[in-house]
Amino acid sequence: MRSSLGGPRVLLRRLREVMAEPVSAQARLDKIVTVIAANMVAEVCSFYVMRADNTLELFATEGLKREAVHMTTMKADEGLVGLIARQAEPLNLQDAQHHPAFSYRPETGEEIYQSFLGVPVLRSGNTLGVLVVQNRAHRLYSDEEVEALQTTAMILAEIIAAGELKSLARPGTDIALTRSLALDGQPLSDGVGLGYAILHEPRVVVSNLIADDSAAEQRRIDEAIADLRASIDRLVDRGDIVHGGEHREVLETYRMFANDPGWTRRLREAVQTGLTAEAAVERVQSDNRARMLRQTDPYLRERLHDLDELANRLLHRLLGRDMVDGRVQLPDNAILIARSMGPAALLDYDRSKLRGLVLEEGGPTSHIAIVARALGIPAVGTVENITGLVEAGDAIIVDGGAAQVQVRPQPDVEAAYKEKARLRARRQEQYRKLRDVPSITKDGVKIALHLNAGLLIDLPHIQETGADGIGLFRTELQFMVSARMPSASEQINLYRTVFDGAQGKPITFRTLDIGGDKILPYMRTGEEENPALGWRAIRIGLDRPGLLRAQLRAMLKAAAGQSLRIMFPMVATVDEFDRAKAMVKREVTHLERYGYTLPTSLKLGVMVEVPSLLFEIDEIAHRADFLSVGSNDLMQFLFAADRENPMMASRFDPLSPSCLRALRLIAEAGAKANIPVTLCGELGGKPIEAMTLIGLGYRALSMSPASIGPIKAMLVDLDAGAIKTHLDMLLAEADGAASLRPALMAFAQNHGVPV
Ligand code: PEP
Ligand code: MG
Repeated sequence: MRSSLGGPRVLLRRLREVMAEPVSAQARLDKIVTVIAANMVAEVCSFYVMRADNTLELFATEGLKREAVHMTTMKADEGLVGLIARQAEPLNLQDAQHHPAFSYRPETGEEIYQSFLGVPVLRSGNTLGVLVVQNRAHRLYSDEEVEALQTTAMILAEIIAAGELKSLARPGTDIALTRSLALDGQPLSDGVGLGYAILHEPRVVVSNLIADDSAAEQRRIDEAIADLRASIDRLVDRGDIVHGGEHREVLETYRMFANDPGWTRRLREAVQTGLTAEAAVERVQSDNRARMLRQTDPYLRERLHDLDELANRLLHRLLGRDMVDGRVQLPDNAILIARSMGPAALLDYDRSKLRGLVLEEGGPTSHIAIVARALGIPAVGTVENITGLVEAGDAIIVDGGAAQVQVRPQPDVEAAYKEKARLRARRQEQYRKLRDVPSITKDGVKIALHLNAGLLIDLPHIQETGADGIGLFRTELQFMVSARMPSASEQINLYRTVFDGAQGKPITFRTLDIGGDKILPYMRTGEEENPALGWRAIRIGLDRPGLLRAQLRAMLKAAAGQSLRIMFPMVATVDEFDRAKAMVKREVTHLERYGYTLPTSLKLGVMVEVPSLLFEIDEIAHRADFLSVGSNDLMQFLFAADRENPMMASRFDPLSPSCLRALRLIAEAGAKANIPVTLCGELGGKPIEAMTLIGLGYRALSMSPASIGPIKAMLVDLDAGAIKTHLDMLLAEADGAASLRPALMAFAQNHGVPV
């Protein structure tokens, strides 16, 4: 077996010299393949670059025929090189010619070479090219040689990423790194935004790849790992900040990985090949990301994601940086790119500069989506590997309604979207003109349109949209964006400001709906297997009356001399509502006794979002002053489909007979008890769904500000009587139909209702 000349470190040193030479890009590549071939005692070294059209093009070779450079291309599913690109893993063969994937290219003259070693050129887990060495004799390359070639591939990845090779691509072709991509996801928030990528958690760009002193780098990586372990231990032990639930689980996983001997060994081995400590982390991280992208088991993917984040922490540590994000230097026209994000993190950014949001996670009824809609930021979720595909500063277009993201768009695509944005702006202008038009159907039925809100930033929308009031004020948002429990006076102040902002229009406050996915970082709750089905909302309120009592008191005080409407979330039994009402009564008595001015009227309502209430709907309707359907949760519990899980996002249609019958039942119970019924889930903000709700008997809907215009435009052209008759007929004849959507769309079309 031959041994390499001088090993990987000498190779890296030679490559560094080549990188520093003032030669053309092609000359540099030619030298690099020559140096690699000489160092690895290989007769051939070839470098293929992935093009935008998913074709691998030979960019440089030592040993194969030179004329084949830029002439030989193969599809990404062709030959051994294609196989490596596809699998993103090295291929080490003694007898390449008999491998089933071998494809013969006469122009290269490679038929005389038996042994073959190829590695993917990876960056952030994406294959940018393939690097190959070949020998005439049958031989199996050693692990050390495979490692050395992978390290070298990393240098080539950086050359590609630096844009040096763009000029070498054949006219009319482009290399993959700079190619335009159209990616699909889930719609989170409507609108079209054009701008430039900002990574919420920026990847660290490692520019210093080759070590001067490998022993020193070895010490650096060891120290950084030890440091990382200690910091995670500290976080896990600091029970006051991080406790229970997901936070702890994530940290425990980090701790496990940080102590994993395999991970540490791979990092140390990468340093031994002559890389700097940070380049070694990037190497191992890139392999890991490539595995992650090809992993289909969601649990394993999640673990690989954890490992990715851990590597990111290690990089920050090595470079002596905190985990900073782009908030400081947010450019104008920023498109925020993140794997996942909580509502509070989004609110930290300067809204005036955000043009869009793209997430790898997040479904349409997730809370980040709700906040994005409140802020009017176009957003798309569930976009696979967006953080790996996009570099900071890349041009991005977010089309929230179509759930599409354009990465590095071609000029014609950009022009088309600019036109779309212009049209949208014109339509918005028309909606603004509808602001003072009464929301009354063609046949004279008043439909109250209310806003969903939860933060002070929402208040100006009441005037802007001409909404009839606030149909759902999510009080927990104030608690979620705060670093500690808001005091009684802070709560009173917020509620007073909301009254002031509403200028006499009605507001429905919802008591704290925490638990499930709405976690307060400062509140200790136990670990739960199924938080959405667990200790949350009114359940916490009744079990910890101190919290609910303080909130009710703050609302009553803030509403002095005005009308107050309070509703309770996640009520599952009549008894729960009775107990909540008793608490309110006690607070009223208490304030009366101490001479406080009371609200002029007090209405107490129930959110209908737990299916058990459907079977006690008359009893609850007789006790409540109003009902409000929380369709986000009602859907999730009716269909047993997690609202935060993107895979469930479009699986069940709310316009299915089962769901519509449930909604009709609630509307009818309200009518029978002579109390108003409103709907405040995301359903009410979509035209075809809102049309259907009016047909079911709903006369008040609450929605995000951007929906008011489209819904009003729809209903002024709607005949409420006609849709009711039609819908009753459709439901009577549904007979197992999965969805009535097509039939309802046809109705809208035939009757000129803009949906
Ligand atoms: C709902 O469940 O539909 C709702 C309006 O409340 P939230 O989305 O805050 O759970
Ligand atoms: Mg809810």
